[in-house]
Amino acid sequence: MLTYSSTDNIEVQFTILTPSPLQRVETNWTTFFDNHGQAHQVEVWCKRDDLLHGVISGNKWRKLAKPLQDFWHSPPSHVLSFGGPYSNHLHALGYCCKKLKIKFTAIIRGAYLKERVLNRTLQDLRNWNANLIFVDKQTYQKRTEKNYLAKLREEIDADVIIPEGGSQQDALFGMQAMIAEISLANSGPPFTSILLPVGSGASMAGVIENCPPTLAKQIIGIGALKAEGYLEDLVTQFLNKDTPYLPWHINHDFHFGGYAKSTNELTTFCKQFNQLKLDTPVKSKLDTPLSLELKLDTPVKSKLDTPLSLEPVYSGKCFFALKTLIQQGYFAPNSKILIIHTGGLQGAR
Ligand SMILES: *Cc1c(COP(=O)(O)O)cnc(C)c1O
Repeated sequence: MLTYSSTDNIEVQFTILTPSPLQRVETNWTTFFDNHGQAHQVEVWCKRDDLLHGVISGNKWRKLAKPLQDFWHSPPSHVLSFGGPYSNHLHALGYCCKKLKIKFTAIIRGAYLKERVLNRTLQDLRNWNANLIFVDKQTYQKRTEKNYLAKLREEIDADVIIPEGGSQQDALFGMQAMIAEISLANSGPPFTSILLPVGSGASMAGVIENCPPTLAKQIIGIGALKAEGYLEDLVTQFLNKDTPYLPWHINHDFHFGGYAKSTNELTTFCKQFNQLKLDTPVKSKLDTPLSLELKLDTPVKSKLDTPLSLEPVYSGKCFFALKTLIQQGYFAPNSKILIIHTGGLQGAR
């Protein structure tokens, strides 16, 4: 396991708000539970990784922390990565490459160039001088094949390739810092459950790898895509099979049809939730996150009082799952639940 060092720290260079707040999610969201089911009294906390930065998205920052730290010390000349047209990962990486003055090429799934009008994610990337290459689905499927990658590397003259979603073994490193922040901020007993959305599985693997039994009793992933079995394999591939981890499992009841798929029920839930404008009070030892010196240029800081808000691809599904599981009486009375807000609100603009 890599050891997180806070002195030699890329976070400072990017004005990342760390530790991100750990907030108690208070009363008014229980309006979603009125007269339904057998909801027990539970305590809900949220790790607000959506507040890490004004541009760079929550868990995508965590997953890129180690590669970026390496870039800071020995900058590559050209980075290549993959993603869909709304990719939080490409958006975060594109911004970081721009700040570090590294050339960036994004291979994007879908023939979007034909539509001419770029969505906001792609517009941002273009404004940050990213080289956007659009490929059809068949070509995109080759994104992990050795020969294809070797060919791309040569054609594009890229010296570093980062996989889709930033999901590689290195990605777990940044989750170590997030868990350390939660440990510092948590007072009282451990969490009975930690919930987070699952896409490629790297974030969940990072939580599983780093979470001690003094911090939580179990970890529950909420599958954001329809892939029972596959998601478990994705998580497992990052873990050491001989290490005794906390109990973990993935719940597959809340994918709403698949990746980026939604239903009226989900969009309505997100809308109503966002209208609550839950400005959850910060009640932890880390009430005042460190304010970091600006090193690169104008900071794009997030505002601490930004209300808790959801998008339907990841956080919406995860909060919907939390609400439903509470309603169903899944959590024992007085459970202390932590939900990790993994960010990603840029994709919903
Ligand atoms: C990518 C992403 C996830 C999924 O993380 P994985 O490490 O791929 O499982 C969850 N939430 C948001 C907002 C994301 O952008």
